[in-house]
Amino acid sequence: MPIKQLTVVIIFLLLSPFVNSKTAQQLLIDDLYYLADQQLAGRKTGSQSAELTRSYIKHRLSQVNNNVVEQPFCYKSGLFSQACGINIISSNIGALEAVTQATDPVQKATRIIITAHYDHLGKRGGKLHPGANDNATGIAALIYLASVFNDKPLPFSLTFVATDAEENGLHGSKYFAKTLLPNSVIMNINLDMLGVKKRRSNLYVLTSRSLKNTLNSVFLAVKNNNVNLKPVYSAAQMSRYIKSKNINWHKASDHYSFARQKIPYVYFGMGYDSAHHTSNDTAENINSKLFTDAVLLIEAFINQLAKTPLPLSPS
Ligand SMILES: [Zn+2]
Repeated sequence: MPIKQLTVVIIFLLLSPFVNSKTAQQLLIDDLYYLADQQLAGRKTGSQSAELTRSYIKHRLSQVNNNVVEQPFCYKSGLFSQACGINIISSNIGALEAVTQATDPVQKATRIIITAHYDHLGKRGGKLHPGANDNATGIAALIYLASVFNDKPLPFSLTFVATDAEENGLHGSKYFAKTLLPNSVIMNINLDMLGVKKRRSNLYVLTSRSLKNTLNSVFLAVKNNNVNLKPVYSAAQMSRYIKSKNINWHKASDHYSFARQKIPYVYFGMGYDSAHHTSNDTAENINSKLFTDAVLLIEAFINQLAKTPLPLSPS
């Protein structure tokens, strides 16, 4: 090895303890930038860049615990064609116990499933679509939450699912949700587009009506000075708030796959983004401070959930 290269390696090795000592919040922003970087080429389902993305997500989740698995699936992509994708699932120890117990048909709901899709559009019209807000933000948040809650005793288990093929029809989450026993799951928490433009500071939380009474007090107890948590209880109300008549927020992301299995959901998102599905959806376009505050609010929400009596089974 030439001296120059050797020096670079030595410097890297010397610096690596500092890399590891980064806080979870610093890593949240690192993850966002890495996932939205050009080398991941827009993370299109089935592409080599999707594989690179998976390697990164698995590596990051494996730093939290060893319970990281892939869930391959295939879906109809045209009249006579099919395509395939791969979800990544990470569960804490409590979650694994809950899965085992789930064979008992009368058991109580004990699981919360946290989802975010990692796929995006790749290149369109010759232009790279980095998908920073959609949905590198959700995946970075998912990794952050997996790391902060891994060792924490909670009255429920958390299963983290990085879904694939959301952009072309919520296929990864549909496949995953069908593998669940509905009465074993308290709720799905879905994260999609948590990044905000410069001054926007609302974090919308679209919630199944069946959870309204239970979660009202939870939402009231969760505060952040920089980001307002705005509970929403119907897609129509969400469209009014965000002035986005053409989007059905109930069906707009992976939470809909859970609703179809009669599992209630809580969907967190910052709402309409003018850079959505354009080549301008870059990490630089996201206010890192507000994004961090939004993720801290979601962390506070889960902490508050842990203090709240939850429905024993979905209604
Ligand atoms: Zn999305």
